[in-house]
Order: sequence, then C-alpha cells, then structure tokens
Amino acid sequence: RADIALYRAKMNGRGNFCFFEADMDAQVQKRARIERDLRKAIADGTVRPHYQPIVDLKSGVIIGFEALARWDHPEFGQLEPEQFIGIAEDGGLIIPLSAHLLRIAARDATQWPVDTKLCFNISRVQLADPLMVLRILQILGETGLSPTRLEVEISEQVLVGDIVAAKEAFAAFHTAGVRIALDDFGTGNSSLQHLRTCHFDRLKIDRSFVMSMAGSEEATSLVNAILGLSKALGLPVTAEGIEDEALISPLYEGGCSEGQGFRFSEAVPQEEAIRLLGQRATARASA
Ligand code: C2E
Ligand code: MG
Ligand code: MG
Ligand code: MG
Repeated sequence: RADIALYRAKMNGRGNFCFFEADMDAQVQKRARIERDLRKAIADGTVRPHYQPIVDLKSGVIIGFEALARWDHPEFGQLEPEQFIGIAEDGGLIIPLSAHLLRIAARDATQWPVDTKLCFNISRVQLADPLMVLRILQILGETGLSPTRLEVEISEQVLVGDIVAAKEAFAAFHTAGVRIALDDFGTGNSSLQHLRTCHFDRLKIDRSFVMSMAGSEEATSLVNAILGLSKALGLPVTAEGIEDEALISPLYEGGCSEGQGFRFSEAVPQEEAIRLLGQRATARASA
C-alpha cells in the first residue's frame, strides 16, 4: 500500500508520500462525514432544490425551471451536487434524497404559472429501481402537481445499462403524462437506434459543447450537427450552459428552441424564482 501511495504521490507531483497519505485520509473521512450528514440534511431540509430558469430563446420568456440540488452544510458551506450526489448513490441514499427534493420542488412548482414546467434529474440508481415511476407519481399526487408539468432528465451517460427496463419506465412515465429529456447529450454514446426507440421528448445539449461554441468554428459545427440530428428525429432541443449573449441567435436559428445558462440566471431559491417570474409578468403587461 505504501508503494502505491508513494507511486501515486510521485504521479501527483507532490514528491511527498506522507503528505499524500494524510491528504487521502482526509478525503476518505470527508466522504464518510458527508454520507453521515446527508441523512440529517434530508431530515432537516438543509439540502434542497434551487431552480435554474429555462428560457424560450425566441421570446426570452421563462418557460420552466430545472431543480438542482444545493446543500448548505454547517461546516463545509455550500456543496455542489458533484460533491454529494455520487456519495448518495453509492451509500443507498439517492432514493430518499431524490424523494425529498422532488417533494419540495413539486410543491414549489405549484406556486408557478401553470404553463411553467419543472425539470428534475433522475439518477442511474433510480432508473434501476422498479418502483421509481410509482414513487414519483405518488409525490406528484401528494403535492398536487400535474404530471404533465414534469419533465424528467436522464443523462445520456447512464443509458448504457438495462435499456429494456429503462424503456418500460419511460413508457410508464408517458402513460402518466410525464415527459422525458435526454440530458448531457453528446457526452454518452446512445445509438441512433436508442434515440428513436426510447421515445424521448427532448434533447439537452451538454454545456461543454455550448460553452466552447464562442470562438470555435469546430464546436459550432458540432452543435449544428446535433441540431440537424434532432430535427431529423423530430426532437426539440434545449441548450445548457449559455453564458454568452452572442450564442442565443445562432442557437435559435439552428433550431434550438430553449436554453438555460448563466447568461439568464444560475439556479436560485424559490423566492427568487418567483421574483424572476414576476418580471416576466411585468414585461408582458407593459409590452
Ligand atoms: P445537469 O443536470 O446537466 O445540470 C446542469 C448543470 O449545469 C448545473 O450544475 C448548472 O448549475 C450548470 N450550468 C447551467 N448553466 C451554466 C452555465 O452557463 N455555465 C456553467 N459553467 N454551468 C452552468 P450543478 O447544479 O452543479 O449540477 C451538476 C449535475 O448534478 C447536474 O447536471 C445533474 O446531473 C446533477 N444533479 C443536480 N441536482 C440533482 C438532483 O436533484 N438529482 C440528481 N440525480 N442529480 C442532480
Ligand atoms: Mg455547478
Ligand atoms: Mg439536468
Ligand atoms: Mg446536463
């Protein structure tokens, strides 16, 4: 073990294996701590969804929000999903965490205008849960959010496992009126066959492609190729990661109808989401 640590310490360029070991211990401990605290955070609500606006690229109007998990940890401060979703998945906590987040998000969404959709991320672990669809529909029932206002997002990278089970879940969602978006499109390797037979309702182009469009002809042609493919498949597209105003019209003209990104807003708490929706009402009234 020491050999490996020494080797990896060298690879890390630290040249100090004691330092590396201490570092690794601290990481393992932090991980264990996060897993323990997450149970508490679900119970006391310090982990909760924030909402990133999704905008109609033609009109600029907010047509929905994506719920993104945020955790205000008492010691570590604001934690990003990357720092705890994976731990929740490995520690058997993603199903209760996701139920907790959806319960809040669905309730919050009932306060938005009825044409505003709620987009919600589903983990690969949930996709393998035979009760997933039932659990989600039950929460919608409890909170009073119509299933037709929910769009679940499934990352292209998780679509490699049991595709038959996934398709059954998708069909059950569709029967209930829930839509399905293929998230992070371009980062996985769905076959064209899957794209057709999974009956997705939307593709979300991964932010890495969108963010590299500025100043790169190659990235721009790649995004245009994705837009062409979606058009051929009859799938509407959302672009993630729009930071630059200048990308809006090329995306729109290429056939991308919806977008989200820091150019519009990052994910915000419910009060702020309501305020953003209010600005839209004011803009409409004065138009
Ligand atoms: P995602 O579903 O692809 O969500 C979009 C991510 O892009 C969010 O990161 C968002 O903050 C970020 N983003 C949006 N616009 C921009 C932009 O203009 N610039 C940049 N640099 N980033 C932008 P976030 O919130 O850190 O979430 C990361 C990932 O964690 C999500 O990627 C999703 O896969 C996962 N995640 C978040 N919340 C949940 C959840 O409740 N359940 C599950 N299963 N996964 C979640
Ligand atoms: Mg982030
Ligand atoms: Mg997403
Ligand atoms: Mg994404």
